[in-house]
Amino acid sequence: MSFFSTTEIRVPGSVISYRIEFATGISSRISPFRGTRGINAGATPPLHHDDDPACPFCRSRIFSSTRGFSDGTWIESGESVTFPNLYPFADRHTVTVITEAHMVESFSPRQLSDALIGSATSLLDHPGYPSIHWNFLPSAGASLLHPHLQGMADTRPVCLCADYLLASAQTASGDYWECVREEEEDGPRHLFGDEIFWYANPVPIGECEIRGILPIKTLGDIFTLTDTLGRDIRRIIDIYRSFGLYAFNMGIFFQKNGHFASDGMRAFCTMIARINPNPQSISDSAFMERICREPVVMTLPEDIRTMAGL
Ligand SMILES: [Zn+2]
Repeated sequence: MSFFSTTEIRVPGSVISYRIEFATGISSRISPFRGTRGINAGATPPLHHDDDPACPFCRSRIFSSTRGFSDGTWIESGESVTFPNLYPFADRHTVTVITEAHMVESFSPRQLSDALIGSATSLLDHPGYPSIHWNFLPSAGASLLHPHLQGMADTRPVCLCADYLLASAQTASGDYWECVREEEEDGPRHLFGDEIFWYANPVPIGECEIRGILPIKTLGDIFTLTDTLGRDIRRIIDIYRSFGLYAFNMGIFFQKNGHFASDGMRAFCTMIARINPNPQSISDSAFMERICREPVVMTLPEDIRTMAGL
C-alpha cells in the first residue's frame, strides 16, 4: 500500500501532480512545465578560492574571529574546525567549517566525513534532539560563502523530525522508515545505496529532494558511518551538478541523545537543490513555500533516477 496519494490535473501544456504523505499530512505539488522557464540556466560551478580577506572562516583568521567552546578549545577533525555559533538559534548551535580554502571546486568524501565527525562531536553531550545541517551558497541561505555545516540540539525536535517520530510511534515496527524502504526498494525512485538507502522523495519538500534512510538511530552511532555518508553526500552533490544545480540544503536528523539505540525511528537525511545564485536575487521560496507551506517543485521524483543516469 502506498504511503502517499497522487492527484493529477491537466492544465494547458502540462500536468500538475498534487501529492500528500498520509502519515505526516505533508503536501506538495509538482509542475514540470515550470522547469521549462530555464531560471537556473547559465550558472557556473564554484571556483577554488584560497582566502578572502573579509571571511572570518578562512584559516588565517578562524581562531581569532570565532570563539572556542567553554574549555577554550575548537574541535578539529581532519581539515574541519568546529566551534559554537556566535549567533545561535538553538540551545546548542555549532558551526563546522568544512574546508581550509574559502571555496573549493568539489568536496572530497574525506572532507565531508571529517566535518560530519566534528559536527557530531559538538552535539553528543546535549541531552536533546541533535541534527546536522548545511546551507550551501547564498541562494540556499548561507550568509557566509565559506562552506560550513551547522549542528543543532534542543530539548524538542524540529518540526520535520517530530512529524516522523510521531509517524514512527504510530507504526507497528516503531520505525516509519522501514515501511518507506519496503515500498521504495527497487522502485522507480530508488537511486542507490544499500547501507544508506537513497531515494527521490515522492512528496518532495524541495526541488529534487533526495532522502537517505540511515542504518543507525542515534548520533552516537554515526562515527562508523561517516565514510559512507561522506561518499554518498558527495555523490548527490555530483548528481545535482549534472542537472546544473549548485546550491542545496541538507538536514540529518536523529533520535534523542541517550535514546535506547535499538528502539524506534532510524536517523534520516534529506537534501534539496536550491535555485542557483543569481544577480537579481530571485528566490525559489515564495508564497507557496513560506505562507501556504505547500512547496511547488519542477522535477518529478520519478524522473530523477533516469536524469542522473542511474
Ligand atoms: Zn573563507
